[in-house]
Amino acid sequence: MKYIGAHVSASGGVDQAVIRAHELEATAFALFTKNQRQWKAAPLSIEVIDAFRAACEKYNYGPQQILPHDSFLINLGHPVMDALEKSRDAFLDEMQRADQLGLTLLNFHPGSHLQQIEEEACLKRIAESVNIALDKSQNVTAVIENTAGQGSNLGFRFEHLATIIEHVEDKSRVGVCIDTCHAFAGGYDLRTEEDCVATFAEFERIVGFKYLRGMHLNDAKSAFGSRVDRHNSLGEGNIGKTVFSWLMKDSRFDGIPLILETINPDIWKDEIAWLKAQQQA
Ligand SMILES: [Zn+2]
Ligand SMILES: [Zn+2]
Repeated sequence: MKYIGAHVSASGGVDQAVIRAHELEATAFALFTKNQRQWKAAPLSIEVIDAFRAACEKYNYGPQQILPHDSFLINLGHPVMDALEKSRDAFLDEMQRADQLGLTLLNFHPGSHLQQIEEEACLKRIAESVNIALDKSQNVTAVIENTAGQGSNLGFRFEHLATIIEHVEDKSRVGVCIDTCHAFAGGYDLRTEEDCVATFAEFERIVGFKYLRGMHLNDAKSAFGSRVDRHNSLGEGNIGKTVFSWLMKDSRFDGIPLILETINPDIWKDEIAWLKAQQQA
């Protein structure tokens, strides 16, 4: 069973995100549980939590179909202790918000060394940040997203994801989300079926499908290996449609949220319908 959807807006309240996903005929969705560009948010009220849970029940979304994304401000590998603490506190808050909503996954970008510490030290720091958050929370799995490797962002090599996982103590609550645009910009080719087979064989060898908790389905405006993060609509970018059709027919991507973060929300409904159709095509 494939769960297919998009990262929908939560404006007007997190329960509105559920309704938007339903309107897209999505079987999965992603959302921010707070404003992604601000550090602080009011705690979720009982009313908001109840409304979200009721909407999920009404429209048949279980926690395995929902992939909340954390704030863009958080850097769990920050080289400066004060800033690191601020990120760790905000991340724990995100984990707890997800848990309050009955969710079991939290998607995050690993972090950046800001040219101030070594790559390896930064990856270990990120793992330690995850350990702290897992210790102080329950039920929610920390889902590391691969990145395009823009600036000093780590996570653009599968080896980075593997190193973080290696240093996380509770392996049952850590996983990964692979963003196709980020992978392509990070140097993993996905343009032909042969490329897809090779890239995901490498993923299996370095990280392992047992850690795969979600996918972001994005074509790329950015060039192959450019380390630039620019999404595009499916088939409109430099990757092309082949990978998305291929993914839909591969059972290794069953049972996890497959989320569009493509640039034109007006065609999400069509993109979702097209993806669904590829399962039989
Ligand atoms: Zn992301
Ligand atoms: Zn993404």
